[in-house]
Amino acid sequence: MRPKYKRVILKLSGEALAGDQGFGLNEKTIDSIADQVKEIFDLGVEVSIVVGGGNFWRGRSGKGMDRTTADYMGMLATVINALALQDALESIDVLTRVQTAIEMRQIAEPYIRRKAVRHLEKGRVVIFAAGTGNPYFSTDTTAALRAAEIEAEVILLAKKVDGVYDSDPKTNPNAQKFDELTYIDVLNKGLGVMDSTATSLCMDNKIPIVVFGLDEPQNIKKVILGEKIGTIVRE
Ligand code: UDP
Repeated sequence: MRPKYKRVILKLSGEALAGDQGFGLNEKTIDSIADQVKEIFDLGVEVSIVVGGGNFWRGRSGKGMDRTTADYMGMLATVINALALQDALESIDVLTRVQTAIEMRQIAEPYIRRKAVRHLEKGRVVIFAAGTGNPYFSTDTTAALRAAEIEAEVILLAKKVDGVYDSDPKTNPNAQKFDELTYIDVLNKGLGVMDSTATSLCMDNKIPIVVFGLDEPQNIKKVILGEKIGTIVRE
C-alpha cells in the first residue's frame, strides 16, 4: 500500500482531544489518535501536526476581556495539547519534536522552519504549537501557513463531523454532504469548514484540504492511501 502523500499536515482541533466529555483531555481519545498517527508514520509519511486549543479556551470565549490577551490564552492552551500529544506519541515509540510559535525554550523548541523540515526528514513527527504566535488568527490558519512553509502536499482536517455539509447535519437531517468543493465555493457559500483567512491562504498557495471525521479509527490512514472519504477542497 503506497501512500498518496509524502508530507502532510494533520490539523487536530482541541475538541478532537477531549472525546465525549467535550472539555479538557481524554487520555483514551489521545492514545487512539496517537495510534492512528503512528500507522501513517509507519507507511513512511512525513507527518506534522497543528493542534488547536478549543478544548480549553478560545479567544472569543473571553467576552469582557481584551481580545489580544484572550487570544494569547488560547495559544497557551494549544501548547498543553501539543505536550499531551507528544507524550502519547513517544509512549508508543514515535519520535517527536514540539515547536512553539511563541518562545518557551524550557518546554519546547521555538518554531524554525528549516529545523522543522530537518526533523521530518529524520523521521520525527513535528507538532506545531502556539498557533501562528499572533492574536486574531486561528489554528486553521496556522495549518495553512505551516503547510505552505514546509511544502506539505495536503492538510488533513480532522473534525467531529465526517465532511462538509450544506447545513448543520446535527440539526438538519436532510443536510447534504459535499464530496468536492472549490475554495471559492467555501468562501461564497460561507461554509464553516475553515475560517476565511485559512481558506484564502490555502487557495493562494493551492494547498488541498481533506475534511473528514475522526470517529472512524481508520480514517487518517484511508485519506493517506487516497481513499475518497469526507470532502476535498481544492481549485
Ligand atoms: N489563537 C491565536 N492565534 C493563532 C492561533 C490560535 O490567537 O495563530 C488563539 C485563538 O484565541 C483561538 C485559540 O488560540 O481561539 C485556540 O485555537 P483554535 O480556536 O483555532 O482551536 P480549535 O478550534 O482548533 O480547537
